[in-house]
Amino acid sequence: MDWADELAASVSGPQVVNDSKTPSGTVHVGSLRGPVILDVIARALRGRGLETTLLYGIDDMDPMDAQALLTPDAVATEMGRPLAHVPDQAGDGHASYARHHAQVFIDVFAGLGIHPDRYYWMSDIYLTGAMDGFIRTALDRAATVREIYRRVANVQHPDAWHPLSVVCESCGRVGTTIVTKWDGERVFYECRTDLVTWAQGCGHSGWVSPFGGRAKLPWNLEWAAQWSLFGVTIEPGGKDLSTAGGSRDRSDAIAREIFEREPPLNVPYEFLNIGGKKMSTSKGRGAAAHEIADVVPPEQLRFLFIRPRPNHAIEFEPEGTDAIPRLFDEFDRFAAATAGREVRGEIAPGFEATFAYALLDPHADVGAEAAAFRPSFAHLALLLQIPNVDVMARVDAEKGSPLSERERQILDERVRAARAWLETYAPDRAIVAIRETLPQDAVAALDDDQRRYLAALADAAVGAPTPPTSGETWQDLIFNAAAEARLPNGRAFAALYAAFLGRPNGPRAGWLLASLESSFVVERLQLAGAANGTPAGVGGGA
Ligand SMILES: [Zn+2]
Ligand SMILES: [Zn+2]
Repeated sequence: MDWADELAASVSGPQVVNDSKTPSGTVHVGSLRGPVILDVIARALRGRGLETTLLYGIDDMDPMDAQALLTPDAVATEMGRPLAHVPDQAGDGHASYARHHAQVFIDVFAGLGIHPDRYYWMSDIYLTGAMDGFIRTALDRAATVREIYRRVANVQHPDAWHPLSVVCESCGRVGTTIVTKWDGERVFYECRTDLVTWAQGCGHSGWVSPFGGRAKLPWNLEWAAQWSLFGVTIEPGGKDLSTAGGSRDRSDAIAREIFEREPPLNVPYEFLNIGGKKMSTSKGRGAAAHEIADVVPPEQLRFLFIRPRPNHAIEFEPEGTDAIPRLFDEFDRFAAATAGREVRGEIAPGFEATFAYALLDPHADVGAEAAAFRPSFAHLALLLQIPNVDVMARVDAEKGSPLSERERQILDERVRAARAWLETYAPDRAIVAIRETLPQDAVAALDDDQRRYLAALADAAVGAPTPPTSGETWQDLIFNAAAEARLPNGRAFAALYAAFLGRPNGPRAGWLLASLESSFVVERLQLAGAANGTPAGVGGGA
């Protein structure tokens, strides 16, 4: 079984799946693993017939704490204010900084096929008074909250500390205030100049009612309150939140001991590492989601995130590597296996579900999608570099019949992705220029065995029962001819690259030859096979 199906089989009754996020800046590709996992869990639950609600929260009462994300003149006034109250820095008409940045990730989610049943905004939730009961309970039981922080996280709050941040009536900051008294209806708070290092409070103090949006709970209590308010049963969390004594442990204890409700099932997930670096939003480094999305279409991106179990880290290094072509190949292998075709190598159990959950449309006809013809990404990347190639006609020929409308969509999407890949991440060896005439020097530098091999490969291509058109068939011919000639594969490939590219390396040889007219390939192989070697003792170039 797929990991999501295993999870769905372990629960019963109606389910509420939740996650939330602070709308504070650029969405990095690594931060999409959580939302994709959330969506797949919801699909798996629905697949088992469980009534399921998918919620996504926007924690927009959190204080602005990143100076770099503000325009210089806004830093002094806006640091420490709730994100929902900070003006949109982009000046493109959103009601607030929070609305602007939340829209960015809502759009990214939609592009990945993630459509929560409801987005909720904490600034709205506080205004409605829905949090008032939780605020009252937290204040009434402040001593127990302090004791939980001490016991679970080894954090010692002063005895006067109460678990609440008032929005300062004077300066509007929430990150700089501390509540020190609670009389059952009002709290006494101070807006301190030195409470935090990243924002300076105004010094105001006074008694105020904490209800109806005038204050917010600290994150651990707000999180536990969300679970109670919405009846959350499952909430995946990044591994950084799930460490011992970490954020999740604190909120679990607060849920049980303060709000008296069992916390939701946690599904801790590991990070996506790009080039060995941990990718997460809070660190603010690495590739922006929209940059990767230009090169990796949504279904392959979903596949990247869900193929490993959540507790396995994903290593992904697209820069100067074949990681993106390999991702497409692996997706295609899962599709082929789901369609009942034989595939090379082992394939993970639950592959049909993994493939289905990678699809954008939860109601897609999985069988039809799996059976659709998908041209190899690496092959397309080559075809696009060969002058005067009718890509559609070549792909039709490889399939053996005209593409369906859906298959044309897939082709168009892959052509766009392959072009973008060649312009951005592709390694030098993937960039090719086919030599219009035989590269004399490079071929002359080959040895007799290599030239005989090229001639033999020409014979094999001519003699094949059906002329080779696909990368796979060419690859088989290349390996078989090398085995018959007892030529090590490395030297066979070097001979091919010399004959077509005039250099010692190149992309996968089978797909390189498949991207060319087969008559041209045969002619070039014959020409190279018949060429003269460099006479012994005479300089053979480099
Ligand atoms: Zn905006
Ligand atoms: Zn203030």
